[in-house]
Amino acid sequence: MRFQPAARGAGANQLKDKLLMADFVPTERTQVRRLPKRGTYDRDTVYQILDEGLVCHIGFVADGKPVVIPTGYGRQGDTLYIHGSNASRMFRTLGQSADICVTVTLVDGLVLARSAFHHSMNYRSVVIFGKAKVVEDLAEKNAALHVFTRHIAPGRWEEIRQPNENELRATTVLALPLQEVSAKVRTGPPLDDEEDYALPVWAGVLPLHLTPEAPLADDRLPKGIAIPEYVRNYDRGKR
Ligand SMILES: Cc1cc2nc3c(=O)[nH]c(=O)nc-3n(C[C@H](O)[C@H](O)[C@H](O)COP(=O)(O)OP(=O)(O)OC[C@H]3O[C@@H](n4cnc5c(N)ncnc54)[C@H](O)[C@@H]3O)c2cc1C
Repeated sequence: MRFQPAARGAGANQLKDKLLMADFVPTERTQVRRLPKRGTYDRDTVYQILDEGLVCHIGFVADGKPVVIPTGYGRQGDTLYIHGSNASRMFRTLGQSADICVTVTLVDGLVLARSAFHHSMNYRSVVIFGKAKVVEDLAEKNAALHVFTRHIAPGRWEEIRQPNENELRATTVLALPLQEVSAKVRTGPPLDDEEDYALPVWAGVLPLHLTPEAPLADDRLPKGIAIPEYVRNYDRGKR
C-alpha cells in the first residue's frame, strides 16, 4: 500500500512561510531576559534556524521527573514533526498532551575574547513550548515522514522505498504547532572591556560550520549506482 499526498517540495515551505510571516508574539515564557536585544520573534529567522538544524532536544516530564531527549525533526509550515517507535517512552508520554519544550541550536563560531569573562559563542537557537498531537491519519503520517526525510536530505524521499502500512502503524508521528516560540542570535566579534583591548593575546572568532566529508558507499550497494546530487553537494545551509 502506498500513501499519496506530501508531494510538496522545499518551495512549498517557502511559499507557505511567506503567507505566515507575522512574527511570533512573546509570552511570559518566551520573553528573552538576558541580553534581550539578541532575542527575536521574527518568523523567518525562526524558520531558517529550524530548517538548517538537524537535531532538536525535547524536554518533558515523565513519571514526575524532567527528561531531555535528542531527536530528529522536520518542519512544514507552522508545524514541527517528530517521529519514533510506538514503544518509546517519549512518544507515549508526549502523545498524552504533555507540556513539552523543544530546543534547536546552531553553533556558528567560537568567540575568543581577551578576558575569560567575555568568551562566548556565535549561535542561533530556538525554544518552542507547546503540546504535540498524535498524527493518526495514515496519509497525514506519511506526509509528515516525507517532511522529516526532506528535512534531512531533500530529494531522498522520491528515490527510496516508502513506508508500508505496517511500518506506518509501528511509527508514532507527533505534530507540534509552532505558536509559542522565540529565537536568540549572537553574531560578531568579542565584546571586551575597553582596557583589555591592549592585551597581547589573540582575540577573534573561529567560525564553525557543519560540512560533509566524502560519502562512504554501503558495502552491499550494487554496482553502477551513482551518488545522488543531494549527497554529493550536501549543504545544511541550502534549505
Ligand atoms: C541525532 C539523533 C537523532 C535521533 N532521531 C530520532 C528520531 O527521529 N526518532 C526517535 O525515536 N529517536 C531518535 N533518536 C533517539 C532518541 O534520542 C531516543 O534514544 C529514542 O527516542 C529512544 O527512546 P526511548 O523511549 O528508548 O528512550 P527512553 O526510554 O525515554 O530513555 C531511557 C533512558 O535512556 C537514555 N537515553 C535515551 N536516549 C538517549 C540518547 N539519545 N542518548 C543518551 N541516552 C539516552 C536516557 O538516560 C533516558 O533517560 C535520535 C537520537 C539522536 C542523538
